[in-house]
Amino acid sequence: MALIVQKYGGSSVADADKIKNVARRIVATKEKGNEVVVVVSAMGDTTDDLIQLARQINPKPQERELDVLLSTGEVVSSTLMAMALHEMGYEAVSLSGAQAGIRTDTTYSKARILHIEPKRVVKELEKGNIVIVAGFQGMTDDMDIATLGRGGSDTTAVALAAALKAQMCQIYTDVEGVFTADPRLVPEARKLKEIGYEEMLEMATLGAKVMHSRAVELGQVYKMPIMVASSFSDKPGTIIHGGISMEVRNKARGIAHDLNVAKITVVGVPDRPGIASAIFEPLAKANISVDTIVQNASIDNITDLTFTVARGDSDKAMSLVQPIAKSIGAKQCVSDSTLAKVSVVGTGMLNTPGYAANMFRALSEQGINIQLITTSEIRITCIIAEGKVKDAIQALHKAFDLEQDLI
Ligand code: ASP
Ligand code: MG
Repeated sequence: MALIVQKYGGSSVADADKIKNVARRIVATKEKGNEVVVVVSAMGDTTDDLIQLARQINPKPQERELDVLLSTGEVVSSTLMAMALHEMGYEAVSLSGAQAGIRTDTTYSKARILHIEPKRVVKELEKGNIVIVAGFQGMTDDMDIATLGRGGSDTTAVALAAALKAQMCQIYTDVEGVFTADPRLVPEARKLKEIGYEEMLEMATLGAKVMHSRAVELGQVYKMPIMVASSFSDKPGTIIHGGISMEVRNKARGIAHDLNVAKITVVGVPDRPGIASAIFEPLAKANISVDTIVQNASIDNITDLTFTVARGDSDKAMSLVQPIAKSIGAKQCVSDSTLAKVSVVGTGMLNTPGYAANMFRALSEQGINIQLITTSEIRITCIIAEGKVKDAIQALHKAFDLEQDLI
């Protein structure tokens, strides 16, 4: 008998009918002879609504209280799911994260899972129950409730699957899987049958918001295969795993894009030790995460330093960097919040010459100006004007033969 962990996202359990629909899917998995553990998110926009409600009472709610409040969203959906299964004549029990043995550190609102003691889950499975676990939450050593950060139910599911040594973790959501590019912008985009963990991480952090990155990382560490599929259809989803078929390895896997990019350039920076740290340390202290950083080779000991941040952080970053720029004798600071990132992702590029040339050619043929370029082992990223994103990813999708159904 295989043990399967399934996770259903907020849109899959948004109302009573959807909960009943999910219950039928859980039953179908159980009827195939599997043991089933189900992780649920809060119904629809419940988490946002609870945050709003808390802020009406107190604009700055204490994190400990807020976490208990938010954890109730998942508790509600887990109990309703158990009731739906009972109504269908199946044995099921709901457990909070704490009851399921999920132990976390004390960083409220973005707690990390330290370990899982799944004794109670195992006991309930042995009794023949379908076990429904409230996602997104765990318990600290002091028996306080802590939540795992927005979208954290994915992490609950993969962590539980690893702790229970499940055969697979299935993430059901409102998209059909991971696509070669955003299908709303590229009509030829295809659903991938499989993708490697690293490639998925690049796709996810670059804006293909199918799954929580932390959950993918956990899957990679524990070698847990993850399937992403829609709870609204029976079409096969995408499997994220480590053992991608050899022949598929040489291909680019997908084109990711991210519109949430702002660029800041400090112009005319004296080229001497300590300058970069003087600029970036205050940003780190202010919790602003800096993405791409480019420093030019200096001429006459003067250089330009450019970096990107999320658009929401742009004003704050400018207000921190401007006085520093002045004090180190830089000429000026300029920012641009109308940019986007486009990336070609694939493990194949590690050993294949010509990827970068192919990318730059495709963009130049569209008359698209590349403002910054960065690379990792499995990704090439260009920063371009946001208005050109659609043209860019369509051209790249074609240039890398992604419309062909090889994988
Ligand atoms: N309900 C939480 C959120 O909306 C956790 C989750 O959905 O995974 O962020
Ligand atoms: Mg949610």
